[in-house]
Amino acid sequence: MPSDNERNNRRNRGGDSAQRSDASVRAIKVLDEILESTDPLDANYQYLLLLRHQLEIDEQQLAEAQEMIQKYDEAYTKLTQPANRIAVFLSGNEDGTANIALGDNEFYTNIDPNVDAAELKTGTRVKVNDAYAIVGDLGPAQNGQIVKVNEALEDGRLRIGGDQQGQNSRVVLRGEGLKEAKIKTGTEVRMEPNGRVALEAFAGKENQDYFLDQVTEIPWDKIGGQQEAISVIKDAIELPLLYPELYERFGKRPLKGILLYGPPGCGKTLIGKATAYNITQEYKERTKRDVKEYFMYINGPKILNMWLGESERQVREIFSTAREKAKEGYLVFIFIDEAESILRTRSSGRFTNISNTVVPQFCAEMDGLVSLENVVVMLTSNRPDYIDPAVLRPERIDRKVKVVRPDRQSTSDILGIYLHKDLPLDWRLVDEKGGVDQAREYLVAQTTELIWSKTHETEFLEAYLRNGSVDTLYWKDLVSGALLTSIVERAKDYAIKRSIEVKSTKEGVSWEDMERAVRTEYKENEIFPKTDNLEDWLKLVDYEPDNVVRLNPIKAKKGSQVTRRNVI
Ligand code: ADP
Repeated sequence: MPSDNERNNRRNRGGDSAQRSDASVRAIKVLDEILESTDPLDANYQYLLLLRHQLEIDEQQLAEAQEMIQKYDEAYTKLTQPANRIAVFLSGNEDGTANIALGDNEFYTNIDPNVDAAELKTGTRVKVNDAYAIVGDLGPAQNGQIVKVNEALEDGRLRIGGDQQGQNSRVVLRGEGLKEAKIKTGTEVRMEPNGRVALEAFAGKENQDYFLDQVTEIPWDKIGGQQEAISVIKDAIELPLLYPELYERFGKRPLKGILLYGPPGCGKTLIGKATAYNITQEYKERTKRDVKEYFMYINGPKILNMWLGESERQVREIFSTAREKAKEGYLVFIFIDEAESILRTRSSGRFTNISNTVVPQFCAEMDGLVSLENVVVMLTSNRPDYIDPAVLRPERIDRKVKVVRPDRQSTSDILGIYLHKDLPLDWRLVDEKGGVDQAREYLVAQTTELIWSKTHETEFLEAYLRNGSVDTLYWKDLVSGALLTSIVERAKDYAIKRSIEVKSTKEGVSWEDMERAVRTEYKENEIFPKTDNLEDWLKLVDYEPDNVVRLNPIKAKKGSQVTRRNVI
C-alpha cells in the first residue's frame, strides 16, 4: 500500500502539472504575439509556427495525463476507505432514531437523512458507519440459518432452538414478511444472519407423516359388541361436548382424555375413529354448524425412533397443532396408539431415557389443555401397567375403558357386520336355506360355533399359572375383531378364486370357504407370534402378566396330531 509520502508526492505531481499547463498556455500566448509581429516571409516564421504546434501537442498530452491521475486518485480513495458494517434493523423510535443489532450487540442509533426511514422494516439489513449510524438500506438478507419454531407466542414473537431440556432456546422477532404468516410449533423459519429476526417460513413436512385428518364413516353399529366401552365413551366424551352449559352449571369438569385398553385387534383403534366420527356428527347436529373432526393418529412405536432426541418438541408440536385446529373450529382427537411405548413408566427399563422427557412434557400439555377446548386425547394400550401413573392421574387421562375380547354373541355380531347383506353368498346355500338372510344367519352361526367349540382341534395354548394350575386356551380365548375380519376376507379370496376357476359370475362365499378360512387363520394369522417369546404371547391373552409362568402354544399338525412347544 502506498505511504502517505507517496500519496502527497503524487498530489504534488498533480499540482506541478497544473502549473506547467498554465505555463504552456502562457508560452503559446507569447508565441502568438511574436508570430503576429513577425513577417510571414521571415525565415524564422515557420520555426515559430512549428514551435507553437509542438507546444499545443504537449499541452493536450498533459491534460490527458492529468485526467488519468485524477481518476486513479478517486479510485484509490474509494478502495482505501474503511468498510461499512451491516446490521439488522429491529425497530424505529419516535425521535427518529432506530434500534439495530449487530451480532450480540444492540445499538440505539441515528439514521442518515439520505436514508428513507419509513422504508426500514424489522429484519432489513442496514449499512452502518463508524458511528453505527444507519447510512444505507440493503433490504432483507437472502441467506441465513433454518431453525424450527418451538412455540409461536401470543404476541407474535417466536421461541426457537433449545435442546431436550429447553436450554439455549431464545425468543426472536418476526420479520415484516412474517407479520401475518401462520406459524406454529414445528414450522421451519429462516433467520437473518444476526439471529434476531425470522424472515421466511417453511411449513413443516413431518406432521403429515403421522397425522391423519379425515376419518372414514364408522357409525357405532359397525362395531360388534363393545356396548359397555361405547357407552362409557359416550357419557365421558360426547355429553360434555354436546352439553357444555350443563356441565358448567353443575361445576363438573369435562374429561380431557381416556385410555382404551385391552387385547390387540379387539377394536381400540376402530372405537377411537368411530368416536371421532360419531361425536362430530352429533355435534354438527346439535350446534347446526358444519364442524369437522381432526383425527391425529400417532403410532407410538413407529414414531419412537423419529422422536429420538426431540421428543419434547414433538409432544409440544402435537398439542399446539391440536389447539390450532380446535381454534379453527375442528373437533380434535389426539389418538396415541400403543401409548405404553412412549409414555412408559420411568422404572420399566426399556426406553427410559425417552419417557423421561416425553412423560413430563405430555403431562404439562395435558394440564395446559383448557376444558371445553374441543380437544380430546385418547390413548390405547394392551399393557396399561407400563404406562406412567403420572399420565393416568385425575384431570389427565382419568378414565380407563376396557375394550374386551368378543364373547360368543359379539363374535356373531362382528361376523354379521362383515358377512353383510351385499356380500355374494354361495347360491347353493341360499337355495338350501330358502333365502339370503337365512344363508347369512347360517354362516354366522356355524362359524361362531366352530370358533367357540372346545375340541381337540381348537386347543391353542396351555397356560401355566403361578398358583400351580394349568389352563388350556381354545380358539375362542384368542378370538378378536381383527381375526374375524381376516377370516371373512380370506373366505372372500377363496370364493373369488373359485369364480375364476369355474368361470362363473354366480359364485359366493360358502360354508366350506368360511370353515377353511377359520382353520387357516388360526394357523397363519400374523397376530400370533412366530417366536416363543413369552412377552409377545402375553399381549394376546387375558391373564395378568404376573400370574403367568409359562405359555405353551399347541400347534395342530396335519391330521389331529398335536404337538406342544414350551414358551418360557
Ligand atoms: P386394536 O386397536 O384394538 O389393536 P383395531 O381397532 O385396530 O384393534 O382392529 C383391527 C381391525 O379389526 C379393525 O379395523 C376392524 O376391521 C376389526 N375389528 C376389531 N374389533 C372390531 C369390532 N368390535 N367390530 C368390528 N370390527 C372390529
